[in-house]
Amino acid sequence: MLPDIRIVLVNTSHTGNIGSAARAMKTMGLSSLYLVEPVSEPDGKSSALAAGAGDVLANAIIVDSLEEAVKDCGLVVGTSARSRTLPWPMLSPRECGEKLVVEAKEYPVALVFGRENNGLSNEELQQCHFHVCIPANPDYSSLNIAAAVQTLCYEIRVNHLDIEAAKFAPSVEAEYPRNEDLERFYVHLEKTLQQTSFIVENHPGIVMTKLRRLFNRARPEKQELNILRGILSSIDKLTDTIGKGKD
Ligand code: SAH
Repeated sequence: MLPDIRIVLVNTSHTGNIGSAARAMKTMGLSSLYLVEPVSEPDGKSSALAAGAGDVLANAIIVDSLEEAVKDCGLVVGTSARSRTLPWPMLSPRECGEKLVVEAKEYPVALVFGRENNGLSNEELQQCHFHVCIPANPDYSSLNIAAAVQTLCYEIRVNHLDIEAAKFAPSVEAEYPRNEDLERFYVHLEKTLQQTSFIVENHPGIVMTKLRRLFNRARPEKQELNILRGILSSIDKLTDTIGKGKD
């Protein structure tokens, strides 16, 4: 759970939307829901649409103003379906997810959603450090509020998972061979391929160039290069034996 990332719904009119937003939050691991002056308090419709997220709904905090909902927050991001007359610093949904996750480690942060009929007022938007807009169809860009909550909470989740994955990634970096070792491998490879007659000494063509490109792209690690050298040596042994047999 990401307890320090707060979802704030301002003046929501449909109680069902409050429930759907709670569900959207819980599926993405968020639990802190603030309701600023909801037109009606959560009811049976909210619970029905919250489904398994009844706990998020039950713990929702109802306050009288946006100011009160975000007073202890170090970062407040407002959401808007359209750009307003007053340009404001904008974040993409991805940048928004990252900023909220990173800064939530220091202090509570909030993502604020507006009214179903007319979004957030200019005054409310000016209480936010940044605005975020989901780049929807320009001819029809207004999402249902719970769908907007879902989309932006998903970005929060993806960023949270990326950071967690990086924490547990093996810290030992792959050890790569030096160029001179790689060059020795190419010389060995060419010699072996000549011995097996895959490359004809006087007409080498561009096989080696293509093989160089292939191995450089794969970027073998030190140990992998050792395995490749071992394979070449085993082929050398075999061709030697066959050669001796012919003598
Ligand atoms: N007619 C309103 C849209 C209200 S939709 C307006 O023009 O602002 C209700 C809320 O859902 C919005 O206040 C916002 O919080 C969120 N929302 C809907 N579509 C969005 C979008 N494309 N990008 C970001 N938030 C969006």
